[in-house]
Amino acid sequence: DAAGLVVSFGEMLIDFVPTVSGVSLAEAPGFLKAPGGAPANVAIAVARLGGRCAFLGKLGEDEFGRMLAAILRDNGVDDSGVTFDAGARTALAFVTLRADGEREFMFYRNPSADMLLTEAELNLDLIRKAKVFHYGSISLITEPCRSAHLKAMEVAKEAGALLSYDPNLRLPLWPSAAEAREQILSIWDAADIIKVSDVELEFLTGTDSVEDEVAMRLWRPSLKLLLVTLGEKGCKYYTKDFHGSVESFTVKQVDTTGAGDAFVGALLGKIIEDQSALQDEKKLRELLRFANACGAITTTKKGAIPSLPNISEAMQLMEG
Ligand code: ADP
Repeated sequence: DAAGLVVSFGEMLIDFVPTVSGVSLAEAPGFLKAPGGAPANVAIAVARLGGRCAFLGKLGEDEFGRMLAAILRDNGVDDSGVTFDAGARTALAFVTLRADGEREFMFYRNPSADMLLTEAELNLDLIRKAKVFHYGSISLITEPCRSAHLKAMEVAKEAGALLSYDPNLRLPLWPSAAEAREQILSIWDAADIIKVSDVELEFLTGTDSVEDEVAMRLWRPSLKLLLVTLGEKGCKYYTKDFHGSVESFTVKQVDTTGAGDAFVGALLGKIIEDQSALQDEKKLRELLRFANACGAITTTKKGAIPSLPNISEAMQLMEG
């Protein structure tokens, strides 16, 4: 497909975000119902910036599921890969904003609809149209979604898509840290593009360092691009031919939720137009400057999807 399509696979949920930081949700004077879920955030980030994107996942046939499907459509995301589970409810996340601006999560998933997506429910025609197929690791944790996830990756790869992986570690969701590490790394070699945060890099390598030597432990010959996001410091990039870092922009950080997803969405939306940045360092640095700007803007407002930038906001920060 000449225009290029990103298909983003995985969970979509509602984040309950307190209106103030430094206290738990139960102690807050109020809360926002913010739609989120990393793969859904990425899909909307792509679409809001003007790229073509489809979301593939399962929602509950309840008020939250209907609300989320409407949000996808309102943002211009193709929802033809979304299925509904009549029995299970949509996933929910209860967020605590720590005083330092970082966030902590508690999840309703026992099981939530996203975990019940089956192989048979996959829209294979949609997956085969992807130029980039993006996914996280939360959908790997339990069956039947795990098999659906692995099948979708296989079909996308066979059809010639680039595979993009953001492990999006939410440690409390796994039975143990060791299992999280093992499961996240078990699909490492299939990806063409991987983005990790500094925290994930340290977790996956068992270090407290984001030095190049440490990042290189996550390098594989099968990779085309490895990215490490560093919050306000921007990001580092590694390809087989070159590596370096790109600084971010100075903004007033309010809530970092969704920053990494905005960063990935900005990147993938450009990659479906032109893959040459994967071989051309100058182009890649330009692209990562754009991705940093999109991540930075997302930290200036509460919630994930509500704060994802459009193209004019991104341009304004880059030119300002
Ligand atoms: P994650 O959301 O995965 O933890 P980060 O917090 O590292 O990811 O943020 C992703 C990207 O967003 C960063 O690489 C950077 O470009 C941008 N970003 C995040 N926080 C800030 C900040 N305070 N100021 C400027 N840019 C930021």
